[in-house]
Amino acid sequence: MRSVEPQVFLIARPSVDYDAVAAYLTEVGGEAWLQKFDRGDLDSELADKGLNDPQNLAEFAGRLCYRSWEPGLNPNVTRVRVDQTEYLQNILASLHGSVLEHVSFSFALHNVSRVATHELIRHRPGVAISQESLRFVRLDELPFWFPEWAREDEELMKRATAVLDDLEAFQLWMADHFGLDEEGVPFHEKKHRTSFMRRFAPEGVATGLVWTANVRTLRHTIEARTADGAEEEIRLLFDKIGSVVRDEAPALFGDYVVENGTWTPRWRKV
Ligand SMILES: Cc1cc2nc3c(=O)[nH]c(=O)nc-3n(C[C@H](O)[C@H](O)[C@H](O)COP(=O)(O)OP(=O)(O)OC[C@H]3O[C@@H](n4cnc5c(N)ncnc54)[C@H](O)[C@@H]3O)c2cc1C
Repeated sequence: MRSVEPQVFLIARPSVDYDAVAAYLTEVGGEAWLQKFDRGDLDSELADKGLNDPQNLAEFAGRLCYRSWEPGLNPNVTRVRVDQTEYLQNILASLHGSVLEHVSFSFALHNVSRVATHELIRHRPGVAISQESLRFVRLDELPFWFPEWAREDEELMKRATAVLDDLEAFQLWMADHFGLDEEGVPFHEKKHRTSFMRRFAPEGVATGLVWTANVRTLRHTIEARTADGAEEEIRLLFDKIGSVVRDEAPALFGDYVVENGTWTPRWRKV
């Protein structure tokens, strides 16, 4: 048994091609919108803020809908919001959530249990999932997360560790018993046995997955999975995910009030 902590690695975020955006805006007459971003070759009042591709992508998608790059391009639009945070907050407030679907983040979730991943995969729209296969990957040890309150309980830890050590020893015994490391064992045979062996791993065994979600889904899952009644490991995980994405895109996640690990959005269900 190896004691582990669930970890969140943000491994991918959107990247905007500003030259392509500029070319498009030249077509529709919205070049002025781009002037406010610091591309290095443009004077910009926002230069000190740098570029935030996730936010810029969401804003771009929203403005395209109404041709609201600047007043007058659409005769129906006589005023436009200039400040990006204000603009995106209005997207959230008016439930125009589909524009948030263009913005996705990918995470490597490491040392998370099958308890957590089983709950995570219940969230269907706006996600992509690649999970470590315990049919292919043999368990030669059992990584396991213990919450702090459990770690403080000496008797519990002694008994829990003994159970896990027994299960781990059984994994090693089965691998030996099935001769999995002997010369010439075909891979399909290893896979067959490995899949049988995983049935004796606890649901708390730590594993991993790549989880990609768009901002609309992230907003919903952060709220649902940090709620008071949510399971403690997934709460911990989504508290971390929430903190990561709020740093990445404060205008898209800055409306949450976080209290005791519970993330409550100002604008729900976009
Ligand atoms: C605290 C907590 C306890 C839970 N307990 C249990 C439990 O005991 N047993 C259990 O089985 N599950 C349980 N769940 C899982 C829960 O029922 C949902 O399956 C899971 O949270 C996915 O969320 P969602 O339904 O919002 O769907 P998501 O897949 O996250 O979809 C997001 C939203 O898209 C819309 N949507 C998605 N798919 C459809 C669809 N097919 N039709 C119409 N609208 C759709 C809905 O508006 C939905 O809210 C629990 C979840 C939480 C947070």
